[in-house]
Formats: sequence, C-alpha cells, structure tokens
Amino acid sequence: DNAQPKKPGWIKVKAPTSQGYKETRDLLKTNKLVTVCEEAGCPNVGECWSHGHATMMIMGETCTRGCSFCNVATGKPEALDAFEPGRVAHAVATLGLKHVVITSVDRDDLTDGGAEHFAQTIRAVRHRAPDTTIEVLTPDFLKCGPEALEKVVEARPDVFNHNLETVPGLYPTVRPGARYFHSLRLLQRVKELDPAMFTKSGIMVGLGEDRQGVLQVMDDMRAADIDFLTIGQYLQPTPKHHAVSRFVTPEEFADYEKAAYGKGFLMVSATPLTRSSYHAGDDFAKLRAA
Ligand code: SF4
Ligand code: SF4
Repeated sequence: DNAQPKKPGWIKVKAPTSQGYKETRDLLKTNKLVTVCEEAGCPNVGECWSHGHATMMIMGETCTRGCSFCNVATGKPEALDAFEPGRVAHAVATLGLKHVVITSVDRDDLTDGGAEHFAQTIRAVRHRAPDTTIEVLTPDFLKCGPEALEKVVEARPDVFNHNLETVPGLYPTVRPGARYFHSLRLLQRVKELDPAMFTKSGIMVGLGEDRQGVLQVMDDMRAADIDFLTIGQYLQPTPKHHAVSRFVTPEEFADYEKAAYGKGFLMVSATPLTRSSYHAGDDFAKLRAA
C-alpha cells in the first residue's frame, strides 16, 4: 500500500524568488558546485539561499550507497576533482559566508573514503576565508582505518557533524550499509581526538520510529558526548523512496526539543522543517556569543 499521509499545513514550501536566491544560485553554478540543497530538494532552499547559506556537496553527485530516504544517485562515482577544494573556498569567500556546511556523498570506492579530499577542502576554505566557521557533515568511513577520521579532525573544522538519521531498528530499511553503533562511535572518537571540537548529529522522524526510540537515540548520543542535535520531518523525495509513516506535529517537535535540552545537548533544532544544516550558522554564532 503506497498511500501516503496527506502533507499538513505546517510543511509549507515557498517558491524561491528573491534576488539573493538568484545570486547564490548563479555563483554556485558558475563554480560548478553541487549542493545538497538541490540534490535533496530541500524545502528551505528559498530561505537559505536568499541569505547565501548553502550546503556544498563535494566528491561528485554519485554515491556508493543507496539509503532509502535519499535522492542522490547511486552508482560508480567519478574520479576526485583536485580543483574542487579551491572552487569551494572561492565560493565561500565570494558569498562572504560566516559559516559553511560541507558534506559529501559516500565514497566506499576510495581507500580513505575521501578523508584527504575533505581535509584539503577544509584547509582551502580556512585559507581563503579565515573568519568563516566550518562545519563538516561526513560519511561514516566504515570501510577505512582510523586514520581516515583522524585526517579530517586534524584539519580542524569547527563543527563535526555526522547524522545517525534514524533509530537503530530502522537501519536495515532506511540506512542499509551503515551501522548505528559505528556512527555513534565515530562521533565519540572525534571528541576524544579533539575535545574542543563541537560534535553534532541528527535524525529524521516520520519514518516509523516511536517516541521512546527517539529518546533512546538522544541518550546514546549524549553517552557519546555529542553536543548538537537536529530533528526534522522526513519527506519522501519520490514515490520510490521510503514511505512517510506519519507527520510528526509541531507540538511533538517542541516536546523533543525540551527533552533534548533536558539531556544536556548544547544546541537543539527540532522542527518539521529542520534539516541538518538549517540555520546552522546562526545557531552556532549564538552559541559562541553566549
Ligand atoms: Fe541547504 Fe541545509 Fe538550507 Fe536545506 S536547510 S536549503 S540543505 S542549507
Ligand atoms: Fe544519500 Fe549519504 Fe546515503 Fe549516499 S550515504 S545515499 S548521499 S544519505
């Protein structure tokens, strides 16, 4: 049965029209940069791009994994582009970003999972835009040795983000190819390697989890010393993707946010339209000012 629950009024997507949106779009296009904003069909693209906030996706548009919620194409990826770190840095400097989120496809075809390319991109941005805070949203480096993660941490991003995506019981259908406790351990290891680095993770809801499961994920994250948490409503990119089991109400999101702060997260974003990178810069600036 493919019948999907009807989209409620609180999931509103405004068509992007502003001048700022167009400027961001043109700059990204000229620099041949891929964004997760477009690849994922993110509902916030009008708002984010009008402020010049975009999440850069490096290492190509083809992923070696095929998560059932994700709209990125699965297949054999292209070779890495050695000029990409420079182009990302140029775009960040030109957009004058205070904060940038850099993510990637999974590259299980590369021995280091693309860790060195990530590190080069961080260094290039740091060099061109020294005042921009850098958040990376990385793959899980499941098939690599510990040195892959160490390489990325050594490049000193300000925030290290890796999403758990869902409760462990839904991994086989939502995130096949990943391991819940491996991902948790990855984030814990970041904190061990560099205790000054902020760690962040997120999940989607409306995939079939229940409240108790979400609270358990929060406890697991806090046990791994994770600082920031995002929770957003899962939206089905196409009918072929994982079904939406239900639309979580804004009240339930508010309850999750309260529970998360109660468990000691430093920063929580839990709303229907929260995405891993939504308002990441504003929230981070607030935290640093506090
Ligand atoms: Fe892009 Fe993230 Fe904003 Fe969505 S929330 S448009 S992915 S920056
Ligand atoms: Fe999408 Fe990331 Fe899964 Fe690849 S690993 S399919 S990019 S969510």
